[in-house]
Amino acid sequence: MNNSINIKSYLLSSFFIIILTLHITPVESNSIRQSSTIDIENIENLMIEQVNIGPRHPGSPGSLVFKNWLFNQTDSSWDIEIQKFTHLDTEVNNYFITHSTSISWPKYIFGAHYDSRKVADKDELYPHLPVPGANDGASGVAVILEMLSHIPSDYKNQTGFILFDAEDQGSGGMEGWDWIIGSEYFVSQMSDEEISSTEFFLLFDMIANDELTLRYEANSDDLLNEEIWNIAHSLGYQNIFEKKIGVSIIDDHRPFLDVNIPSVNLIDLLGYPEHHTIHDTMENVSPENAAIVLDVVLEWMKSTYWVGGTPTSSMFYNSNTSETSIFIPIIIFTLLSSKILSRKYLLNNLN
Ligand SMILES: [Zn+2]
Repeated sequence: MNNSINIKSYLLSSFFIIILTLHITPVESNSIRQSSTIDIENIENLMIEQVNIGPRHPGSPGSLVFKNWLFNQTDSSWDIEIQKFTHLDTEVNNYFITHSTSISWPKYIFGAHYDSRKVADKDELYPHLPVPGANDGASGVAVILEMLSHIPSDYKNQTGFILFDAEDQGSGGMEGWDWIIGSEYFVSQMSDEEISSTEFFLLFDMIANDELTLRYEANSDDLLNEEIWNIAHSLGYQNIFEKKIGVSIIDDHRPFLDVNIPSVNLIDLLGYPEHHTIHDTMENVSPENAAIVLDVVLEWMKSTYWVGGTPTSSMFYNSNTSETSIFIPIIIFTLLSSKILSRKYLLNNLN
């Protein structure tokens, strides 16, 4: 008889634990944290404006329009250095954005490519039309431009941003062109001193997929990957940031890796069926997902590299932070109280 009461009371307490756990378990969602100050609408508008420019491959009229557009997006506190060179008789332009107070090479460099692919060769119906590049091009640029207004003032002079041309024209995109021409050139122009003073390079490429899943890009730096994914999980974005090794991709982080600069590529190539088709448009992307990626990167920077400039985030700002540290005392409390209850129950019944 005592046994059956024990079983009942333990079943009851287990039930409570399950209910409690369900109640406090952070809900995984694809929404950005409420406390984030990232302007999703700005990211969206920046993407729309780039797509509206039209094709932006090297040498295209759109590429020149992009240049003028870019200079209107930044205030005078940011300098944009144009790195111009010629490849196969075509003018190629990278844009290097640094703060006007910078006196030395930035320690942290963030990048994205702005060119759109000249031909939608994965499109079944229209393989000769250009790719609009809402995700493949515009999303990374939009995130970088939004990022400028979130850098703590003490760290602006240590942070640089590079927008690459000519990333996306390999394998027949433009005749005779290879991939990552812009970033190859950028790194080739870095001095040994600049290379050694670059702590890391982080690339945003195709981060606005409607269904976004980011896995570790296979060539990216393990340690940096782990740091970023850990932050993402602590913020509740574990459904987007999957701790698995993904595919290996030729992208603008490669030239940096080749000179031993730790580098990360944030990209979801496989989860975007519109890749290199004419459907890489605003209808098929989520500016909010791009904002979530920026949220993670900013929190990672604030907790790891920008320590001391601005207050790092409190562990209490988000219910998803330190899950275990919240759960353990609650579970112990529930177990203890259920034990006390069951003892009382036993005593009452025995009396
Ligand atoms: Zn591409």
